[in-house]
Amino acid sequence: MHWLFGTALANRQVMKMHSGTVYLIGAGPGDPELMTLKAVRALGQADVVLVDDLVDRGCLAHARPGARIIEVGKRGGCRSTPQVFIEKLILSNSRRGKTVARLKGGDPFVFGRGGEELRRLEAAGIVVEVIPGLTAGIAVPATLGIPVTDRAAARGVTFVTGHSRDGAEPNWRFLARSGSTLVIYMGLANLESIVAGLKSGGMGPHTPACIIENGTRPSQRQQVTTLGRLSGAGFSGPAIIVIGEVVRFAKLGTLQAKERAA
Ligand code: SAH
Repeated sequence: MHWLFGTALANRQVMKMHSGTVYLIGAGPGDPELMTLKAVRALGQADVVLVDDLVDRGCLAHARPGARIIEVGKRGGCRSTPQVFIEKLILSNSRRGKTVARLKGGDPFVFGRGGEELRRLEAAGIVVEVIPGLTAGIAVPATLGIPVTDRAAARGVTFVTGHSRDGAEPNWRFLARSGSTLVIYMGLANLESIVAGLKSGGMGPHTPACIIENGTRPSQRQQVTTLGRLSGAGFSGPAIIVIGEVVRFAKLGTLQAKERAA
């Protein structure tokens, strides 16, 4: 029994010795200049790069010439069981001794399934180095000068998803009373019911709110408004929704001036 266990352990060690490094990298919210130096360095070392839809293609300028770039997002053509497929690709390449960069939008651990991926790769005996990224929920409001935890206007910030795997919604009535800025990822599809839930929890219709689509990219668009008037009409790209008093600090003028100058 001991011998068997020892063999399994030894096999795992051998596998680790021969597998290539896997980097799980956060590429930031869009603008390639918002990648970290560490992300750029790791990407430049990779033989194989698996890249998500959300990652701006400009980030790939830092990949090694000749590196194999594999698009693994929904638009990349692996619709059926993408997650399993992606993990298989990482495993097979790493086991062949390749250095693999798994590039995800924002931060890999913020609504990005990075945790699931990491656990499964580690369970398969692969060593993974995690490189955090700038999450959209902080960086995108910052493009409008919105400080998500400004102490004059908020007690904290809550990152929440408007869309969960099991369809269960966050407790909007409770969140309405938290005194915390709400930063909602993937909230466009359920916006009506989010707004209704917050209102029924006592959040006033005049509470400042905004939607920012394609944040930090040249195609960025936003609507700065109030909870009562918040509507997703006309937005279709990845969008962050910010609700709370901090939104009153939004400096639209600055951004428009910058757009005019560009
Ligand atoms: N791991 C990512 C989030 C992945 S979930 C991160 O840390 O940022 C995908 C959601 O993130 C999108 O539906 C959208 O709500 C948000 N998002 C990501 N990039 C964005 C961007 N550039 N502008 C606006 N929202 C963005």
